[in-house]
Amino acid sequence: PPRRPWLGLYTAGVPADLPLPARPAVDQFRNTARRAGDRPAVYYFDRVLTFGELDRLSNALAAGLRDLGVEPGHRVALFLQNVPQFWIALLAAWKAGAIAVPLNPMFKEEELAYHLNDSGSTVLVSLESLYDGVARGVLGRTEVRHVITTSELDFLTPPTGAPGAAGSGSGGGVPAVLAGSSRRRFGETWDLVEICRRLEGAADPGAEPRPEDVALLTYTSGTTGSPKGAMNTHGNVAFNAEVYRTWMGLGPGDVVVGAAPLFHITGLIGHLAAAGLAGVPVILGYRFDPGTMLELIERWRGTFMVAAITAYIALMNHPDFGRRDVSSLRKAYSGGAPIPAAVVERFEAATGTYIHNIYGLTETTSPSHAVPLGRRAPVDQESGALSVGAPVPSTVVKVVDLETGRDLPPGEVGELVTRGPMVVAGYWQKPEETAHAIRDGWLHTGDVGRMDAQGWFYVIDRKKDMIIASGFKVWPREVEDVLYRHPAVREAAVVGVPDPYRGETVKAVVSLKPEFEGRVTPEELIAFCRERMAAYKYPRQVEIVPELPKTLTGKILRRVLRERGREG
Ligand code: AMP
Repeated sequence: PPRRPWLGLYTAGVPADLPLPARPAVDQFRNTARRAGDRPAVYYFDRVLTFGELDRLSNALAAGLRDLGVEPGHRVALFLQNVPQFWIALLAAWKAGAIAVPLNPMFKEEELAYHLNDSGSTVLVSLESLYDGVARGVLGRTEVRHVITTSELDFLTPPTGAPGAAGSGSGGGVPAVLAGSSRRRFGETWDLVEICRRLEGAADPGAEPRPEDVALLTYTSGTTGSPKGAMNTHGNVAFNAEVYRTWMGLGPGDVVVGAAPLFHITGLIGHLAAAGLAGVPVILGYRFDPGTMLELIERWRGTFMVAAITAYIALMNHPDFGRRDVSSLRKAYSGGAPIPAAVVERFEAATGTYIHNIYGLTETTSPSHAVPLGRRAPVDQESGALSVGAPVPSTVVKVVDLETGRDLPPGEVGELVTRGPMVVAGYWQKPEETAHAIRDGWLHTGDVGRMDAQGWFYVIDRKKDMIIASGFKVWPREVEDVLYRHPAVREAAVVGVPDPYRGETVKAVVSLKPEFEGRVTPEELIAFCRERMAAYKYPRQVEIVPELPKTLTGKILRRVLRERGREG
């Protein structure tokens, strides 16, 4: 068996290996609902949903999905913000044996159409506002046969006939972000609450997915440019939920702060699957807003937080930070992007809570590495990177030479390759990309780093072109494709440049067709992109140059552009 020097870093009581869960995550949830049905599962503003309610609502919706023709293996797309309906729909899809396809609610039309088509989703569960604004127009071009919509307000107002008015809400009723959303019934769509009411008391359809069956298609660009659906299996999901419980210390008494988006694997596993296994509640707040989140942490005594570092920065920079009581927060993790040591120090000084770095990819179904709870990450002397910790139980990670692929000894820099029960089954209907990313069970991460003699890992660079802006992943290829659709653009290259607030920001360097020279401004190109892609993706900076730097073979030299961007 391969050596695992990092086992010495494990805190007492954490096993080197976890038994592989024989049951899918939906069974972990079913167990919790059976033994703790009256316990809170979701805090949504001033509303509480118990595990029992969640179970009954998802039974009804699962029965509804079956009525709408959903069979095991069919794809059900979830186009939702961080609302309780996300969990209801996810559980319903699994109980019906379907594969859930969580999609980013920031998507514009083209992005949504691409993901619905690629996944072959036949049912779409969406917020009414997103349906009206984005989805309605694209559905005719997809295989979607049924749309189930739900209102932002469905779980903010008490059920009709319930005694008492809407809860007081410490901010005074409906949060501003939701004001203006309406409650309507569509002829052309099904209403989620209506389905749940009509099928109230329906039995769980009882799907029993095997560990190797696909639970989710989570979209990522991997190490190359185009978005593809990573196939997270039920075994992957159940295993990672266990990792949260055993290794990251999520357990009785905890209240999860749902600060990460649920459509991304970190939120989906860290907030829903893990809380479902541990039987603890999660605070949801529609979407991440620092002021609202501070209020909700105070109100519901949040203890356990997993989010991108930008969420911690946003909390600290909010005027209410310091006025709100966040002393309940005891276990904090940050993943998805490099974290500056200074931010960790500032947060600890203000709250007494140390932020543990965690690292993983969509392809590892959430963390493959984490700083063990209670330990502090050392800093890499050479690069200044804060350690991402040690591989989680049952996981092996190697550092391999970037050119030859040969194993490297501790201290040397190469690509991180990971093997373990959380590595996905591959990419949906993309055998070539799968074979490129996962070779003999080893996931090639595209991240460059090293391991020190004690077994601490450091991520210090990326082999892939990915940009991380405010914690969101941006792939140059996607942005360039949009720029190339502009009639004036001759060539375009997109790179990440350092930004004090967003970590990195998206910059496009563009050359124009001769007939357009001097006639198109950077602002015009920025506006063109903004209309066509999710807000985190469009370039904040555009530089127009006569010619892009290239290799002799004509390949655009991104590295040169990145370096130029770094110099200012
Ligand atoms: P995603 O598939 O969206 O989860 O993105 C995964 C990528 O995020 C990894 O391949 C890394 O490049 C980056 N990443 C995740 N966690 C960290 C971390 N703690 N430090 C540095 N980079 C990270």
